[in-house]
Amino acid sequence: MAPGEPGANAGWFERARAVIPGGVDSPVRSFASVGGTPFTVARGEGPYLFDMDGRRYIDLVQSYGAVLLGHAHAVVTQALAEAAARGTTFGMPTPGEVLLAEDICARVPGCERVRLVSSGTEAAMSALRLARGVTGRDRVVKFAGCYHGHADALLAGGGSGVATLGLPGSAGVTRAAVADTVVAPYNVVPELDETVACVIVEPVAANMSLVPPVPGFLAGLREACDQVGALLLFDEVITGFRLGPGGATEWTGVTPDLWCFGKVIGGGLPVGAFGGRAELTGVLAPDGPVYQAGTLSGNPLATAAGHAVLSFVGPDDYAELSARAATFAADLGRAINDGGLGARVTSVGPLVGLLVGTPGAAPEPAVDLAGVREVAEADGYRALFHAMLRRQVALPPGAYEVLFPGFAHNEKVLETVVSVAAEAAAEVAASWS
Ligand SMILES: *Cc1c(COP(=O)(O)O)cnc(C)c1O
Repeated sequence: MAPGEPGANAGWFERARAVIPGGVDSPVRSFASVGGTPFTVARGEGPYLFDMDGRRYIDLVQSYGAVLLGHAHAVVTQALAEAAARGTTFGMPTPGEVLLAEDICARVPGCERVRLVSSGTEAAMSALRLARGVTGRDRVVKFAGCYHGHADALLAGGGSGVATLGLPGSAGVTRAAVADTVVAPYNVVPELDETVACVIVEPVAANMSLVPPVPGFLAGLREACDQVGALLLFDEVITGFRLGPGGATEWTGVTPDLWCFGKVIGGGLPVGAFGGRAELTGVLAPDGPVYQAGTLSGNPLATAAGHAVLSFVGPDDYAELSARAATFAADLGRAINDGGLGARVTSVGPLVGLLVGTPGAAPEPAVDLAGVREVAEADGYRALFHAMLRRQVALPPGAYEVLFPGFAHNEKVLETVVSVAAEAAAEVAASWS
């Protein structure tokens, strides 16, 4: 079915279900937590998506933060066309991977070496192996509601889709694989001992809606790690090059030992990166005994897109985007509450968190997964999601995800979202039972 034919969305999803488990290649896309059938995307342009029925949506998902400049930005499509013409993969060193690694190390204070991989999952998984290789220790401490991709050892207590689907972790993960994973509540410095290889944390949590670190949390982790010789690992897959050029490291002023990156650094193509101080990354093969590899790692197309995006935006651009997002968050919160549905909308840099309560009752700010879950499991978000989607604004299809206004979302687009939200909230409040 061609784009624009009525019923094309439904037709494509039916075909998808016949050949792809659940019809999707990543569970959160399925609308499982909000109900209904996902639309199928024909194309994107700036802040907009067009579905196979020819409907246009304002897109606040932006591929869960992988897209920073908006869809099909010329800076990216041109870099891709030029790179593709030179060949798509060689399995040999290329200038593109050097440029992207230089971009990352130049912008993130303390990060001296990065190795490129093909996803955030791979980055977190490999960083964990690196931490264990460096320290000779087994245990990893993670925080409930933080998501670090779908590697076995890191799924326990995950945010994002794991939280959305209410899974404790996942079937198919052995007890042995998670035996050395300790899950602690976010925003409380856990007690560590000398069995801990590393503490992995989202420095600003953005997979359980948006939960900023409370004052002292990250500095406390730094201190606790230093006391027992454990490594601190910032998972900046979302925050990296989105909060600002120096990501959460710059934003929080706390410097970890190791980092992982993803999403923005690929310019919308599959990339991840992990790294840290040179003395730590020196244990990686070929220089050291920690093995890690990838046929498509540092892929020429992905590095070209990532380098193009990182070169295009500067500190002032980020400051402007953050200011726009702060105004948007305040306006959106006011609109939904004025519409009669309680909501709390917060922002950190350009990241926007939306907690939807019940008519007349705005949720309290949450500091951990337990607080978010209480709100996210109620019907408010689900109802607002569909009321907005009918008005052609696409929020993420799950209450644990954040909104990603980016460089393509100008004031006019964001004002449209706010006025749509006011109408949608009024509709939901009026029909609440
Ligand atoms: C998305 C995400 C990941 C996983 O990245 P993928 O590219 O989906 O594998 C890891 N950590 C965080 C914080 C993320 O948001």
